[in-house]
Amino acid sequence: MSKKLEVGILGATGMVGQRLASLLEGHPWFELKWLGASDRSAGKPYAEACTWRLRDPMPAAARELMVHECVPNSSAPQLLFASLDGKVAGEVEGAFARAGHAVVSNSSHYRMEPDVPLVIPEVNPDHLDLVRTQRGERGWSGMIVTNPNCTTVGLAMSLGPLHRAFGLEKVMMTSMQAVSGAGYPGVPTLDILANVIPYIGGEEEKVERETQKLLGSHADGRFHPADFAVSAHCNRVPVEDGHTETVSIALRITASRDDLLAAWRDFRPVPEVQRLPSAPSRPIVVRDEADRPQPKFDVNAERGMAAVVGRLRPCPVLDYKYVVLSHNTIRGAAGAALLNAELLKAEGYLD
Ligand code: NAP
Repeated sequence: MSKKLEVGILGATGMVGQRLASLLEGHPWFELKWLGASDRSAGKPYAEACTWRLRDPMPAAARELMVHECVPNSSAPQLLFASLDGKVAGEVEGAFARAGHAVVSNSSHYRMEPDVPLVIPEVNPDHLDLVRTQRGERGWSGMIVTNPNCTTVGLAMSLGPLHRAFGLEKVMMTSMQAVSGAGYPGVPTLDILANVIPYIGGEEEKVERETQKLLGSHADGRFHPADFAVSAHCNRVPVEDGHTETVSIALRITASRDDLLAAWRDFRPVPEVQRLPSAPSRPIVVRDEADRPQPKFDVNAERGMAAVVGRLRPCPVLDYKYVVLSHNTIRGAAGAALLNAELLKAEGYLD
């Protein structure tokens, strides 16, 4: 790992693209060398093309990089992070994968395809194997690997150890989602200030299906969804960063509250994942206070890479209920993609 691998970002000027540029600054394995966005931004240096929205300053090394159009050409590196507007993501990502690039995608277009890995390294690192089927069947020299929707990720991370230990039978989830999840400029101020919007197009279906794929199995080059039911209610709330979710679950095996807490506290990913540079030392952080987690205080736990859980208590309808919080543009997007790319590199998929 002595020489850094050159990487690029498709959709570099957006909310997630900016997070990626920021997280890649000083990365031990990867060096940001190439940026792509729409023809509105192409041909300009990043500092001019991008309305920078993060509190940390734009990385100095990215400022002068020229933004390219998102069409495959010889200047783009092999490994590309993709954080493209959903309307163009399918076509652009497919074109780059066909042209030999490894595309680590945030968008929903390919997530549920049977031969496309949908991966949270702490939950289902073995699903990366689907890349072999994908390449064989599609004839791609490149590949597409995806991370889940920003609302799915905290839910799936918190459910993973419980499903493994006790088996899930039913899951009900209600989200309170930050405005940064809608990209930039996102939801108009007059729509969201002092308000709750009880609808995010397509989000509930994504959470329900992606959770089953992530916690399912794979065999014969295909994934097999987990067989528990998931019902999601998704709401937009006036929070800047961090999706908070209230979750009720029914288990297949009887377990005490202490059993569930121990499953979360003792949870450790496989050693290959623990060693990745962006892996949080505690993927699941358990808060004991009666009123936590809260986005204001807990969203940056483990550099924004943790699922923070709390308020575990009996549920009079199902078995237990709790709260989980995760950072939507870090753990739910840029940080998730970075961890997936690190896993691809560590497992030899980029050699
Ligand atoms: P965003 O702020 O709207 O950024 C969209 C990016 O796509 C910009 O860089 C934009 O470039 C580029 N783009 C738009 N049209 C294009 C075209 N025709 N050709 C090439 N590039 C084009 O969106 P975002 O919030 O960063 O989300 C990006 C993706 O990640 C989406 O698919 C979203 O669903 C997914 N995601 C977002 C979050 C989140 O929390 N925000 C979480 C998980 C997943 P210009 O600036 O040049 O227009």
